[in-house]
Formats: sequence, C-alpha cells, structure tokens
Amino acid sequence: MRETEHTGVSLPAAAFACKGGWSLDTQFTESVGSPYLLAHGLGVPVVDAQTEAALPSAGRWRVWVRTRNWVPGVADPPGRFRVLIDGRPLAPVFGVAPDAWEWVDGGVVETAATRVRVTLRDLTGFDGRCAGVAFMRGDRPPVSAAAWADGETDARRHTFDLVVTGGGIAGTCAALAAARQGLKVALLHDRPVLGGNASQEIRVWCGGEARHPLVREVRNRFMNREIGAALSDRMRMRLVQDETNVTLYGGWRACGVERTPEHDRIAAVTARQTETGEPARFAAPLFVDATGDGWIGYWAGADYRMGREAAAEFGESMAPAEADRMTLGCSLMWTSMAANTEVPFGPLPWAEPAAQGVVATQGEWNWEYGLDRDVIAEGEAIRDHLLRVIYGSFSLAKRDPQHADRVLDFVPFNLGKRESRRLLGDVILTENDVRDRTPFHDAVATGTWSIDLHERAGGADFLTMCRQPLFGRYWIPWRALYSRNVKNLLMAGRCFSATHVGLGSPRVMNTTGQMGVAVGCAAALCLRHALEPQALAADPVRVAELQASIGGEFPGHPDPAQAGWTVIDDADAEQVLFQGNWKQGLHENGDHVGSGFRYAEQGGTDTWAAYTLPVRQAGMHCIRLTWNVYWDGRARAVPVSIRHARGTLRVTVDMRQGSGLWHDLATVALIPGIPAEVRIETEGTDGVVVADAVAIERIGDT
Ligand SMILES: Cc1cc2nc3c(=O)[nH]c(=O)nc-3n(C[C@H](O)[C@H](O)[C@H](O)COP(=O)(O)OP(=O)(O)OC[C@H]3O[C@@H](n4cnc5c(N)ncnc54)[C@H](O)[C@@H]3O)c2cc1C
Repeated sequence: MRETEHTGVSLPAAAFACKGGWSLDTQFTESVGSPYLLAHGLGVPVVDAQTEAALPSAGRWRVWVRTRNWVPGVADPPGRFRVLIDGRPLAPVFGVAPDAWEWVDGGVVETAATRVRVTLRDLTGFDGRCAGVAFMRGDRPPVSAAAWADGETDARRHTFDLVVTGGGIAGTCAALAAARQGLKVALLHDRPVLGGNASQEIRVWCGGEARHPLVREVRNRFMNREIGAALSDRMRMRLVQDETNVTLYGGWRACGVERTPEHDRIAAVTARQTETGEPARFAAPLFVDATGDGWIGYWAGADYRMGREAAAEFGESMAPAEADRMTLGCSLMWTSMAANTEVPFGPLPWAEPAAQGVVATQGEWNWEYGLDRDVIAEGEAIRDHLLRVIYGSFSLAKRDPQHADRVLDFVPFNLGKRESRRLLGDVILTENDVRDRTPFHDAVATGTWSIDLHERAGGADFLTMCRQPLFGRYWIPWRALYSRNVKNLLMAGRCFSATHVGLGSPRVMNTTGQMGVAVGCAAALCLRHALEPQALAADPVRVAELQASIGGEFPGHPDPAQAGWTVIDDADAEQVLFQGNWKQGLHENGDHVGSGFRYAEQGGTDTWAAYTLPVRQAGMHCIRLTWNVYWDGRARAVPVSIRHARGTLRVTVDMRQGSGLWHDLATVALIPGIPAEVRIETEGTDGVVVADAVAIERIGDT
C-alpha cells in the first residue's frame, strides 16, 4: 500500500493479501507498468480477491481502478468485474473500458473507519484484469501508472558470485552448473515454478539432445500439454532447493541494471518482488541473461537483434531476400476433457468471429500468432488474441451435441514464446553453422533438432506450418554465449547469439539447457582464473579446460568418459545382425549413438538383434548398452542375453528409463576366439524395443 502524491492511497492488485482465484500475471510488467491480477477462470467466475486498505483518515474518497477492456469493439466485453468496498459494490462494472490500461473512475465512497476491505469480484471467468485500486482525495487519478513501483524504499543489497536471471530450462541449468562448481549463485525468476516454457504453466516438451546429465535432471519429461509437467516442476524445484549454493529468488522480476562507470559492464541487476514491489539489488562479477527476451542485455546496452536477416548477409538459404521484423510466433497450447455430465459453454459472440471458422476442442504448437508483431511490446495483445480464438473455436465446437460433455481443461495465460531479442556475441550462429556442422574449436554445446522455422499456414491468422530440414549434430561455440560489448554478461537460452534462421534449431530446451551448463561452468572458470568471458575464449588452454569441465566429446577432443571403450553401433553392418522386422529410427531428441538406431514394434521369438563383440585381449570386460526413450511406448522388460567365454548370462532392461545413458549390463570374461555376443530379444515384450549401441571395456585380467 502506498501513498500517491500525499493525496491518497494506492493498492497494487499484485499485493492483495488474498488473491482468491485470480492469477498473478507478471509477463507484461514492462508494458503494463506492473504485474496484475487476471480472472482466468476458463468461463467460470473465479473466487474473489481481497485485501485491506489503511486510509490516512475516514471520510470521502474517490476510488480509481486500474484496468482495461481486453476485447475492444464488442457489445458485451468479457472481462467484467466489480470492486466492492466493505462489501458494497462500486457503481461501475469494470473491464468494459478503456481499451488501453488506465485508471477508471469508480465514484466516491464515504468511509466511517480508516481500515476498509477491498474486494475484486469476477463476473465472467473470462480474463478480467486489474492492476490496482486507489483512494484519492481530489478528482484526479494517481499520476503513476501503477502503485507497484511507487514509494521507493531502499533496495536491499545482495552480493553473489553469479546472478542468473530467468529460471527456464537454460537459467536453471546455468544456476545449478555454476553452483556445483562452487559458486554462490542468485537465481531470479518471476514465476512460482521453474522451467519457463517447459513448466506446467506452458507445458512444452523438451526437445533436442540432452547430452549432459544435469539437463536430463532438469528437463520436462513429458510431452506437449501433459499435466506431468507439474511433476517435472517439482523435481526441478527440489534440485534447486537442495543445492545450498543457489539462492532462489522465486517471484522476483528483474527490472533493470546498474552499469559500471565505464558503461561496459553490469554492476548489479535490480529486481522487484512481483507481489509487493519490494526492490532489491543483486551485485556480482558475472551475470547470466536467461530471460528468453534478453532483458538484462537490453537494459545493459548489449548489442542485439530482433527479426529476420536478409539471405545475403550471412549467405543463408532459408532467410528471406530482404531483412524484416518477423520472428517466430507465440502459442497457447490448450486441451479440453470429457466431464461425466453436460457442461454448458457459450455461445460467445465476442470470441467466435476471432476463430475464423476453426472449430476445435484442443490446440497444439501450430496455434501460433504474432509472427509479424513485436513479441515484447505487443505481447499482451498477442496473448489476448490467442485466448479469444481458443474460446471462440471451443464455443463453436460446443454447438455439436457430441461435445456436450467437453469442458476446457488447460488454457495457459502465460504466453509460450519462441523468439524475441537475440543478444550478440563474438560469433553469431547461422544456418550454415548448423547445416555444415562447423567444428568450432570452442564448442561447448550441441544441437540435433531440425532448423524449425514457421510460417502462416494460410486461412486463419493463428495457424502456422513448419519447415524442418534436419542436419544432424552440430556445435555451439562459447563465443556465442557471451555479449560482445557488455564484458561480464553471459547468455543462455533463446536469447543467445544467433541469426533468426540459426536460432531455428538450438532454441529447443535440451539444447538451451546445455547452454546453461556451459555458461555455469564457464562462470566458475572465469572467476577461478580472473578472466573475462572474452579472454577465456582467446585462451585455447582455458577453452579446453572449459570443455573438460562440461564433459563429453567436442571437435578434436574425444569423450574422455568413453576412452578405452569399443562401441558397436547398429549401423556397423558386419558386427550386428538384425533378425525379423526392425525399422530405422532417427529422432530429434538425439539420444542415440551414430546416425540413428533401430526399433522393433512387434515382439516375437524371431525378432532379435545380435551384436558380435570384438575381443582383442582376454580379460574381464564391462558390457554396456544404450537406448533412447521417446515416449511411454517403449518396452519395460526387454530380455538381453550376453554370450561370454564361460556361458550365457540373461538380464532384462527397462527401456522407459535412462534415455541416452550407458547402462551397465554385466561384467564378464571374454577371450579371443571364443564367440561373444550381446543379443537384444523381443519375445514377450510390452512395447517398442530399441537396438542402438553396445560398448565393451576391458577392465582387468580374468
Ligand atoms: C508452443 C511452443 C512449442 C515449442 N516446441 C518445442 C519443443 O517441442 N521442444 C523444445 O525443446 N522447445 C520447443 N519450443 C521452444 C522453447 O520452448 C523455447 O525456445 C524456450 O523458451 C527456451 O527456453 P529458455 O530457458 O531460453 O526460455 P524460457 O522458457 O522463456 O524461460 C525464461 C524464463 O525467464 C523468466 N523471466 C523473463 N524475464 C524475466 C525477468 N525480467 N526477471 C525474472 N525472470 C524473468 C520467464 O518467466 C521465463 O520463465 C516451443 C515453444 C513454443 C512456444
């Protein structure tokens, strides 16, 4: 609660003590001026929000409500709500005007006491919104856009080794990787759950090659729109809470930076608690921007781009002839479900025209809008358009008696974004780096996803289609993960240094997670050796040290973890015999050895894969097997037999677990001249069986 101009009291809606069923929407803070409360009830009015206001004195007060009509130009706008003072409704219904955020006059109230109860009462369940309520002595509304950031108190000051802003998959991995290297890390995140697009709030599946064990721990294990994302959120939150070197500032939104006197470095990130507006200052020698929208870089004056490059600029065949402001669009993926009774919904005259004839009970990634709009400045309008088309198309579907029992189940209000600002590093990753798999000497992460660009599908303005050429594993250099002009700024996630086309692949979240691991490890090295990110890039010894601390194979550096192993891949025709019906698999999760893998959908005695083991020297050998998990259809109990010098050993493996990992099967004696084999069998299995690669490692004498 804050005084405005000493003439009144202003209550930010975000600070309401009891929010009831209203959701706290933080994503448009910069354009709206504050977070706000949203009555996102999917057509069912949400429970009242309530708080108490302490007025300087009793008497006559003019009440102002900061709100807007989110569907301009319709007869009966949907976002209607009332404001009650001590249980008595103010005369106006709010949410019907104006079209842009403003203080709306609620009339005069006479209060007998200095403490009054303020209630927000939703009337529709259709996304009414309120940013604040103010009590003013005169006839003028508060000067400030929102009370949230008024009444400046001294910012609390914190100092860390590293400040990571944005707790999506990239930021969470960055914070944990740095913490595991011993750094004291602050993780600032504006939502109550970690994971960004992968969280239960948006529910995007994590694609691309995970590669690093930390990414596997952090990622969403479920497919698009599945409620299981909530389980992954809990596991991710537990990881962060258990990591003593990470201090999580959940519900804190960064709102600016302080720069050093030379203006080429960040001294501190400033942030506000999303409910109370309480300010704080986070100082550190290094900062990671993992906000997706490149906010930290933007405030710090980092070079950035937004939009598409012309084809000629980097010689990109998939880029347009002329540069423009187009980006990938935003989505709200949604679902409905069957209730065990009829559930009325609609008709919604304010929404149905927006559906443009599309009748639907669910929507996937291709419900995408805003490719030609400014994803940051116009984010709220993009989100609102998508809400309107979802409600409209569902309302049309509900006219059909076969959908009488369908009810909206999941419609996010947090916008799923794919692309906005891209901060520029010393290298800008382009289409050609993905296509040609440029073997960067300073590679620190890999990608395997296709270059996944979208365009309008034609017809309705919210449907897109994609082009997805696939090029295999490529490399992301360290020089694309720090700012070229803000000396102590690292980036991870979709705001890293790439062209529009170059970003089309590495924007997927197992890859952004790898970027997080890389910047976390790099931050530790920079501090240990007193190097700035650019200086680290210039020192081949330090680059090699960085690659070693990340682990795994990089161009010119074989994976030390696998040194001494002999790997037999499904593609090694002379050593692997496939019997029965095996298909060739290549999926973009990339969790496979070599160029692909085989899989059998139907089990049977005559369907098996036999890997002949090359034995060069007698001894005890550790036998390992790797497979990948793409969805729950993998077989749970797959029989594997290991023929060795002293007989045959049988084990079973669960192919729903441990995607892309090497699993120890057994340690056995192998002797040259005595046949040795690993056979993956399928008889009696309850799902898809994968045959990818077997590894043997000699670990001692027999
Ligand atoms: C519909 C859809 C389908 C997609 N399909 C796939 C797919 O199948 N597989 C895949 O892997 N990827 C997919 N993507 C792409 C992927 O989800 C994005 O590229 C993702 O955003 C990248 O993760 P990130 O960590 O960089 O950013 P985000 O997930 O956006 O995380 C950034 C986080 O930072 C927080 N934040 C922002 N600003 C601030 C601030 N000022 N202060 C504090 N916190 C802040 C945000 O709340 C957000 O949670 C899809 C995207 C969409 C929208």
